[in-house]
Amino acid sequence: MDRLIAGHKRFLAEVFPGRKDQYKLLSERQAPEWLFITCSDSRVLPDLILGTGPGDLFITRNAGNVVPIHSHDVDGVTATIEYAIEVLKVKSAILCGHSDCGALKAALNQTGLERMPKAKRWLSHVEVAFKHKQPLNPADGEHAELASLIRGNVVAQLANLKAQPVVQHAVAEGRLTVHGWYYDILSGRIEEYDEGVGRFVPLTG
Ligand SMILES: [Zn+2]
Repeated sequence: MDRLIAGHKRFLAEVFPGRKDQYKLLSERQAPEWLFITCSDSRVLPDLILGTGPGDLFITRNAGNVVPIHSHDVDGVTATIEYAIEVLKVKSAILCGHSDCGALKAALNQTGLERMPKAKRWLSHVEVAFKHKQPLNPADGEHAELASLIRGNVVAQLANLKAQPVVQHAVAEGRLTVHGWYYDILSGRIEEYDEGVGRFVPLTG
């Protein structure tokens, strides 16, 4: 814990004083423009890779950046999506997968889950990725197989996201856009799924 406490002391001494006015505004309301759905992975830092800060991104994270298929059951991801769109009125929903994702690795290898029955059940949500596997990309080197599955998972979860009634309404009313991204940890680059051509293209053009 020492490192975290030291970090918080640095925040109070060096960061917070310069942003006091911003935090005062944010202390009473938030108006994020983007809903960001990504994996719990410690190497994915949305604010760092997108240049955003407090109040910008409304984030929900879980193993494998899953959006469960819409059903009558209650789940935290769907509840977060509904709140973001209907209350916060975000303008875009972004679903972001990433390279070297442990959830897809586990789905590919089917090992090491014996003592994690809930995780095993959760990962059944990503099995649909196999149906949407993307073409192998030589740039991914020896990890090309896994990367194509991870991209496939983005395509699959994006479809689940678009099938959420609240998303369908907002898109039909022209107040929401929906995006699927793949973040490569090694290069730092983000790709966007282009539904028109059915493949991932660099976000930066
Ligand atoms: Zn992951």
